[in-house]
Amino acid sequence: RASMKKELPERFRNHRHVWVVVELERGEVHPVSWELLGEGRKLADRLGVDLAGVVMGPPTEATRRAAGEAFCYGADLVYLAEHPVLAQYRTEAYARALTDICESYKPEILLLGATTLGRDLAGAVATTLLTGLTADCTELAVDQDGSLAATRPTFGGSLLCTIYTLNFRPQMATVRPRVFALPPRVETPVGRIVLHTVQFAEEDIVTKVLDFVPDALTAKSQLAYADVVVAGGLGLQQQENFQLVKQLAATLGAEYGGSRPLVQKGWIPADRQIGQTGKTIRPRVYIAAGISGAIQHRVGVEGADLIVAINTDPNAPIYDFAHVGIVADAVQILPALTRAFTRR
Ligand code: FAD
Repeated sequence: RASMKKELPERFRNHRHVWVVVELERGEVHPVSWELLGEGRKLADRLGVDLAGVVMGPPTEATRRAAGEAFCYGADLVYLAEHPVLAQYRTEAYARALTDICESYKPEILLLGATTLGRDLAGAVATTLLTGLTADCTELAVDQDGSLAATRPTFGGSLLCTIYTLNFRPQMATVRPRVFALPPRVETPVGRIVLHTVQFAEEDIVTKVLDFVPDALTAKSQLAYADVVVAGGLGLQQQENFQLVKQLAATLGAEYGGSRPLVQKGWIPADRQIGQTGKTIRPRVYIAAGISGAIQHRVGVEGADLIVAINTDPNAPIYDFAHVGIVADAVQILPALTRAFTRR
């Protein structure tokens, strides 16, 4: 790798700075953008370069507000592209705008949220810029020689691999919501905005948005960002017992979720799955009832402040990372907890 690094083409030498795409959709910024700015700050400091946010959207108050907010989460500068064509997310329009900004200002590292929008946009931009993209990273670091070391699970989550983009720029990565903590918000930020004009017209874009229909996405994001989550696994034995999870969650004002086999059995919808191929959560309290704690589940929950496990097997893997363990039958403990919290 060291020898390949030396052969970095001359045209990549002027690639600098760490960039984060601020995901703005329908006037709302996805919080993963702020989480990535927090992590991007560490990478930028390590490299001794600036941290930039990229804001793309229609010329509205919400777009300008998003640009201003980026400074509150650590950006030194914001590249702002405003155009009526960017009113709704469409791959062609956004990929063209982001590619154009990258070609003009040349980032060293480009980070996006591994959301529906971010995954789509990252792939389109990486193929146009002919660079490497590491998807769904769980860890980002800067190596001794300044390369981005992007770590992600592989082989069904049984191994972690660290991937380098050697002789291509920018080095691109996506990260799922909640993998990184939200950085503290600065109340009096400073920074500068670089206005970038994208030259395109509505006629250039063949995709037309006819209607917008909100779906269970709302439930997904509530689960990912919930303060308290109660989840069930196969230890609940039968589908009816999942009601006990829902009842405790309702009593605590919590969101509910479950392990992957429950989705496969049709006990819960796919957007309630927690883990490597489901949601990553970072609640203050996570209660796992009848869940073994397999690695693919663990990676989605280990950011929780307090993990409470209810499992009949004292040797279950979940007890390796739970903070509180109740070695007992979840079918009895869940209603007891619901009664106890109802009394309060
Ligand atoms: P089990 O492993 O069967 O565990 C049930 C637990 O309940 C046991 O520990 C048992 O001791 C306990 N138990 C039994 N009876 C009781 C009782 N009465 N009261 C209390 N406890 C009891 N899994 C996920 O969850 N999320 C993912 O995103 C995910 N992604 C995956 C991706 C890949 C590529 C692969 C290969 C697997 C993935 N899995 C995922 C599946 C994962 O490997 C495990 O199979 C799964 O998490 C196990 O679910 P479970 O804990 O509900 O069931």
